[in-house]
Order: sequence, then structure tokens, then C-alpha cells
Amino acid sequence: MYLILFGAPGAGKGTQAKIISQKYGFEHISTGDILRESVKKGTPLGKKAHEIMSSGQLVPDDIMIGIIKEKLSEPQLRDGFILDGFPRTVSQAEALDRLFGELQFGVGAILVFQVDEEELVNRLARRRACRECNNIFSNDVINNLTECPKCGAKYSFYQRPDDDESVIRRRLKIFIDTTLPVVNYYKDLKDLHRINGLRPIEEVTEQIFGIVEELKSRG
Ligand code: AMP
Repeated sequence: MYLILFGAPGAGKGTQAKIISQKYGFEHISTGDILRESVKKGTPLGKKAHEIMSSGQLVPDDIMIGIIKEKLSEPQLRDGFILDGFPRTVSQAEALDRLFGELQFGVGAILVFQVDEEELVNRLARRRACRECNNIFSNDVINNLTECPKCGAKYSFYQRPDDDESVIRRRLKIFIDTTLPVVNYYKDLKDLHRINGLRPIEEVTEQIFGIVEELKSRG
């Protein structure tokens, strides 16, 4: 089974992906995390991606499609996986369709997270990430903490360079111009679910669990 989590930066995809992955054992594939890991390790991919990511632009399609192609051929994904942050362009969606045709992953759904722009800017400007486990927190929650509540790492919080307000605005513009048309590409698909991402985390999770259970019942 597969889930594609689609939505603007800050809409809650990563948070929900981690919760679903824990409950069902599905692998969480975040293309942003894969790229950040490469940047951290200083690999050739990381060197290429670093500047593009910091300025809020999209990494070129051929690179991203290559990453996903390699990832999706891993055998453990047969037990289920969640795509978070891919596809972000219509070309990526087309490439994904071709891969799904070849690899036959069974049932799946696309979850479209909807949150209005001002709330997204607000959330992104306040969010902090843990360098060790990549979990995301609101600054209000971890304000006085020295340890990550998820993995226990000390002094590991940082603000992603692309969560700076001017970069956030650029990322949202790119989302509207380049990524949003992907929904249109998928619009005739039966299993496209709209998720109101303004609701509390637990309510969103409950809706998604309902969708997963229904998919499971179809086998
Ligand atoms: P995210 O953590 O999903 O917000 O991704 C962080 C950054 O990684 C994005 O702003 C892009 O620069 C890059 N990125 C992640 N996924 C993709 C993708 N599918 N296509 C192009 N760039 C991506």
C-alpha cells in the first residue's frame, strides 16, 4: 500500500507521515530529508542541492526522479510506504506513474493537505527541526528545552535556512505555480482525499487512519 502526501510546505505532511509510519510500519520517504541528509554528508548530490534548497527553489526533476526511482526499488517498500514531498511537478507525477506501472504497489491514495497561506507562513517561521531525528516542532513547544522530546538529542534544534520568512514566501509561490497543478493531474483519481490541515494534529491523524483502514479492507 502507498500514500502520497501532497500539500504546501508547513501543511503538516511530515508530522502526519511520522505518525502513520509508526502505527502501520510503512516506510516514510521524505525527499526533503533525503536531500538534507546528503547535504549533511557532503555527497555530490548534497553539494548540488544545498544552494538550491537554501534559496527555496526546486531541485531539478531529473535528479529527483533518479532519487525516487532508486528508493522505490528497495524490497521493504512492498509492505507499504508514504511519499512526502514527491511529486512536486507534473513531470515528477508522470514519472511516478510510469514507475508505479512497472513496480505494482497495490492500493494507494493521495492525501491533499489544505491550509491557507498566512497560517503556513506563521507555522514555518515558528518551526524548528531536530538535526538528529528530523522531527519538526513549533518553537512555542520547545522554547526552553535542551533535549529533543522525540530522540533525546541535546541542543539539536535549528531553524532550517529555507524557513526564513523571505524564503518561505518564495517556496509558497513556487508551490502555487509549479506544484499545485499536480492536483489537477490527479483530479480524476478515485482515491484523492482532501485533508483540512487547519484542524488539530489528532483530528487529521484520525481521518488518515480511517482512509488507511478502508484501503486495507480492499487489500
Ligand atoms: P521539504 O522538506 O519537503 O520542504 O523539502 C525541502 C526542499 O528540498 C525543497 O524546498 C526543495 O528545494 C527540495 N525538494 C524536496 N523534494 C523535492 C522534489 N520532489 N522536487 C524538487 N525539489 C525538492
